[in-house]
Amino acid sequence: MRGANTLEPSGKQRGYEDMTMTEMGTSAVWHDSDQSWEMRELPLPELEADAIQVRVRATSVCGSDLHIWRGDGIPEDAPPREPFVFGHEMMGEVAKMGNKITTDSLRRPLKEGDRVAFSYFFPCARCYNCLRGEFGACKFRLGRTPLEEWPVCNGGFAQYYYLRSPNYVFKLPDSISNAAAAPINCALAQVYEAMHLGGVRLGDNVVVQGAGGLGVNATAVARELGASKVIVIDGQKPRLDLAMQCGA
Ligand SMILES: [Zn+2]
Ligand SMILES: [Zn+2]
Repeated sequence: MRGANTLEPSGKQRGYEDMTMTEMGTSAVWHDSDQSWEMRELPLPELEADAIQVRVRATSVCGSDLHIWRGDGIPEDAPPREPFVFGHEMMGEVAKMGNKITTDSLRRPLKEGDRVAFSYFFPCARCYNCLRGEFGACKFRLGRTPLEEWPVCNGGFAQYYYLRSPNYVFKLPDSISNAAAAPINCALAQVYEAMHLGGVRLGDNVVVQGAGGLGVNATAVARELGASKVIVIDGQKPRLDLAMQCGA
């Protein structure tokens, strides 16, 4: 790891109201070229009227992060990728809101300091596919912007995440811990969609193959949807124990 002396976040002791467009945040930047991490201080993006600046409180490591880290699918002789920030399974607190934002996506009042879960892809919400609810098929969907194009503090493995518009943001109840909330936007959302597409109904029996991050979430979702039996297959007892706690 390099640049460790920049670990101490600037403005750590100050309130959110002191944040300005020149506020800085720390990002964990991955360098492919020498396989190293760098803690880099980067400016926060200037807040647009319909955007939300989130102070990241918890981020989990998704299986996709491991694929991205290893460079799976990239040819051996490809040049190193440009430096980038990892992390997308995250939650946080509203650090600052654009002046057009007053509520979350369920029209509940939203204020600075509220703990929130949110999406990390930004479908346009206006095209044919979006209007049919097929946000993943949106051709205008935005995701992570490369660091060389937009050198700002923005990511899961960073202090801040920039929720541009249109977005989905949901206030979290106190009963859900930060750690439990982090995978809502990826692992939980994925398996919920799978159950939805598969048409899981009250009384169904559901088999979940693999009790990893997705499998454990799938177990809990299947149970919540009213599955009669949730059978989980895995080779590791601790994972199966966790699945049992989640309704297997
Ligand atoms: Zn993920
Ligand atoms: Zn769209």
